[in-house]
Amino acid sequence: GDARLHRLDRTETTCGYCAVGCRFELYSDDERVLGVRATDPDAAPANDFSTCVKGKFGYGFIERDDRLDTPLIRDGDGFREASWAEALDRVASELEGARDDYGPDSIACFASSKCTNEEDYLMQKFARAVLGTKNIDNCARLCHSSTVAALLGTVGYGAMSNSIEDVSNADCYLFSGTNTTESHPVLATKVKRNVRDGAELVVVDPRKVGIAEHADQYLRPKPGYDIAWMNGMARHIIEEGLHDAEFVEANVRDFDALRSKVEPFTPEAVEELTEIPADELTEAAERIATAGSVVFGWAMGLTQHSHGTNNVRAMANLALLTGNVGKPNAGLSPFRGHNNVQGGGGDMGTLPNTLPGYQDVTDEAALDRFEDAWGVRPPDEVGLKVTETFEAIHDGDVRALYVMGENPALSEPDITHAREALDTTDFLVVQDLFMTETAEHADVVLPAAAFAEKSGTFTNTERRVQRVGKALDPPGGARQDWEILQSLADRIDHDGDRWDYRNPTEIFDELTDLTPIYGGMSHERIEREGGIQRPCPDADHPGTRFLYGDGFNFPDGKARFVPADMGEPGELPDEEYPLTLTTGRLLYHFHTGTLTRRVEEITDHAPESFVEIHPETAEALGIDDGETVRVESERGHIDVRATVTDRPGEGVVFVPMHFADGAVNTLTGERYDPTSGIPEYKIASVRIDPIEAD
Ligand code: SF4
Repeated sequence: GDARLHRLDRTETTCGYCAVGCRFELYSDDERVLGVRATDPDAAPANDFSTCVKGKFGYGFIERDDRLDTPLIRDGDGFREASWAEALDRVASELEGARDDYGPDSIACFASSKCTNEEDYLMQKFARAVLGTKNIDNCARLCHSSTVAALLGTVGYGAMSNSIEDVSNADCYLFSGTNTTESHPVLATKVKRNVRDGAELVVVDPRKVGIAEHADQYLRPKPGYDIAWMNGMARHIIEEGLHDAEFVEANVRDFDALRSKVEPFTPEAVEELTEIPADELTEAAERIATAGSVVFGWAMGLTQHSHGTNNVRAMANLALLTGNVGKPNAGLSPFRGHNNVQGGGGDMGTLPNTLPGYQDVTDEAALDRFEDAWGVRPPDEVGLKVTETFEAIHDGDVRALYVMGENPALSEPDITHAREALDTTDFLVVQDLFMTETAEHADVVLPAAAFAEKSGTFTNTERRVQRVGKALDPPGGARQDWEILQSLADRIDHDGDRWDYRNPTEIFDELTDLTPIYGGMSHERIEREGGIQRPCPDADHPGTRFLYGDGFNFPDGKARFVPADMGEPGELPDEEYPLTLTTGRLLYHFHTGTLTRRVEEITDHAPESFVEIHPETAEALGIDDGETVRVESERGHIDVRATVTDRPGEGVVFVPMHFADGAVNTLTGERYDPTSGIPEYKIASVRIDPIEAD
């Protein structure tokens, strides 16, 4: 009870699961975390006293016996234990060898949206300054790269325009493709509370997700036809003269281009394409056009399509058309997934086209600044995206791959093909907490530290940079990611400065000097102020609650309507594969489940994969609830239990993404959005058959 907790160490930190960025205290003794408690709400702007089941009970993985606690080197089909010196020497010589024999661009590095900003900054510096490769990317490619591309082109920053505070107080919401209740639980609680108090909620989603239960209007489009209903709403709003003409006139370019692009999307045409009844579409359009302030929320349901960038453009157009950007309690809310995907997965320059702070890799002035600071000039060419890297491995252009804290063997589309690539590399090094599905393919595995074993910062979905506190030492010989990167930099012959960081604070000081949107931050100030929202260009700047209050991030200060061409799914059902599969998340699990599948409190509730099937579809197929079935696409099959429910529509089935047994990416295909490279995870054609008893 409390008396015992009293004797324990308390460490304030930020949740290591999702990007809501809940703050809490870890109670620990010398060896393990024993509990999670709310912290002072002033120090917890995202969550006050709340946490979800993952934050509160999901820490059991930290002390698991199967944590990696010593480096491993491949030995035939298995691994042998090795000293750090031997493992690091091996990694250094293999990477140097690839660089010298095939050129620096024969190496690719994947940074991690789970690591701290400090570690991800170092990873891109390691790639660019030590190895000299242009190939650095991370799994944000797989989640919101289409959001970033669309928002950079329409409003100017690839991030949520507003804050959790704004999302909590809007007059109205348009949510699409966000399973908020399960993916961002603490945020969903705030939305539900506000809706209970009178705010309006419109949810448009092919799957009747939890948040839809609270909606004033729930519209179910056919999967993959979202541009039609968004363009249709825009058309109806313009037609009825309900757009914010004054705002548009003063702040947004290219209105005429938008108007002519959406012209064909009459309510009847949209009904034909999407199956959303015409009168429901116009009612929803009028709701968002007439509300005082509207938050436009979305996640993977809009982004993970072969036309994901156009999906997000269509959403941004609606927000601009109704004048809901750059003011309180309104705005564009792409809800981010990983704890630090906004920071480590984007702001820190772990992307093939941008240096830290979204400075273009071809911008000579930016390159000069980095050369001054690093003593070596970063490569000035755009590198390979994650998804392109796998092709480049198949083609023999990428020979060595360094994966820090990611699990592409489960997260890539068509994992059978992706795993072949992992086996094809001359050299694969994986740095993680566990022997993940990816690490199983490695030549060297380096044991890393969990969030409770490191200090630094994470940046949450509302761009708030918050401190991460170290409660424990990593187990055995495991080390923090920044320490591992520094030891490697030491061993690899390279131009530029020697690395001699003593702690994450020194790394943060370097990165804030080079990243103008973080320019006014320091660890000490973040701690004192309970988190700071970027942009924060100088020490006197308070941070930014919402973006675009005084203009958009373009030289002329104006946003742009970028009209969205209609896009259809890249794969359509046919006779052999008549059903549409869509994928997504569960409350209890996180991403590829590396952590949550190792926590008993979680697996007790959600032990295994399943497929949701609409009752009519199940009946037509002769499938009973609870029966094990085979789900098959052109690319492979999985055997999972059937859950008969009307959450998906007729002819649509859903499989969660978190499991290695029954891995859904066995079924998904390698079709990409041409602008962002995001895979079309949300659509695959499948068939389902009962499994005959032997
Ligand atoms: Fe952690 Fe997200 Fe849950 Fe908050 S809502 S406790 S940040 S997983």
